[in-house]
Amino acid sequence: MDKPTLPRIYLSPPHMSGEELELVKEAFATNWIAPLGPHVDAFETEVAECAGVAHATALSSGTAAIHLALRLLGLKPGEEVLCSTFTFSASANPIMYEGGRPVFIDSEPTSWNLDPELLREELDACATRGKLPRAVISVDLYGQCADYKAILESCARYEVPVIQDSAESLGASYRGRPAGGQGCVGVFSFNGNKIITSSGGGMLVSDDAQLTDRARFLATQARDPAPHYQHSAIGFNYRMSNVLAGIGRAQLRALPDRIAARRRNFEHYQRALGSVPGIEFMPLAPHGSGNFWLTCITIDPVQFGASREDVRLVLEAHNIESRPVWKPLHLQPVFAGCRARGGEFAASVFERGLCLPSGSSLTTPQVDQICELVLATPQHIAAARP
Ligand SMILES: *Cc1c(COP(=O)(O)O)cnc(C)c1O
Repeated sequence: MDKPTLPRIYLSPPHMSGEELELVKEAFATNWIAPLGPHVDAFETEVAECAGVAHATALSSGTAAIHLALRLLGLKPGEEVLCSTFTFSASANPIMYEGGRPVFIDSEPTSWNLDPELLREELDACATRGKLPRAVISVDLYGQCADYKAILESCARYEVPVIQDSAESLGASYRGRPAGGQGCVGVFSFNGNKIITSSGGGMLVSDDAQLTDRARFLATQARDPAPHYQHSAIGFNYRMSNVLAGIGRAQLRALPDRIAARRRNFEHYQRALGSVPGIEFMPLAPHGSGNFWLTCITIDPVQFGASREDVRLVLEAHNIESRPVWKPLHLQPVFAGCRARGGEFAASVFERGLCLPSGSSLTTPQVDQICELVLATPQHIAAARP
């Protein structure tokens, strides 16, 4: 007889509160099914408040928000954009949509985010060459902010605007201020695996209403004010639907609970694995507090007796999803021709790094089981050797 398989444990599955359906029903009852509507307006206000910024524009994805941000800042073909290398490809893909040239910058060990020192060096080098980048895309990785004080100082010297890719970091903070408002434009994602989800969606935030208004205009096919369809710019169909904004609103109300649950996961993992030789946790940066989106560890195969991949496969054999940390973009085949400054740090974390199941709906017994499997992996590997 087959062993009964337990339901799969996912890395970061959607976690509905129950309130979502009420707000979706409201959208149906009022026939606000089309893009735009009262939920979209309210979601914008609520996210702006949560991020401590004045304005927000709801979009179809975080990627769309980064794309529009580059448009707003006037990126032209051939121009460079400096971008964190240690991130998801969606941070940099929009640079390519616009024919720009990404230059990838390594991370610092403190937060695994953009290394302010390397960024300053690169900006200095660009200035010496007389060709400043159009923008810097700084990513707030796995729920923690980059060190904006240092980053913004360097960027201000050369008047290079910062796009803050906070797709993973809604609800985090930097020096007591909510994540998302540090850059000139901030970006959030409500994709299915993020800390809250609208089933798909994004938000562009800024204190500058001109930017968010222009984003709204470009995202709705760039319609000029006229009774007929009149266009003097190329637009996009990038707005969020009112139905999905309803889901997002209910999710946002649960954000504090979701952060608390993910923090509990992290603390549980740390209690069980934190003193194991060869296992280290992504450091908690002193300059802010994270939202604990994903718990990430690095595994030294010699010290621990098993590699990151060994652990991943053992978990997978038990129907548990874990995943290597992001493969740095300067190592991605698609970005092979791009310039990079540093990259060894991100590459070394990629070699050893693993994201553990981190969903806010994980149960204590599930985390216990995952920790037991991680701890048992070295014996498992030794036993399998001929
Ligand atoms: C998820 C993510 C994005 C893209 O957001 P989507 O809503 O999926 O388009 C961009 N940057 C980072 C760092 C992300 O994790």
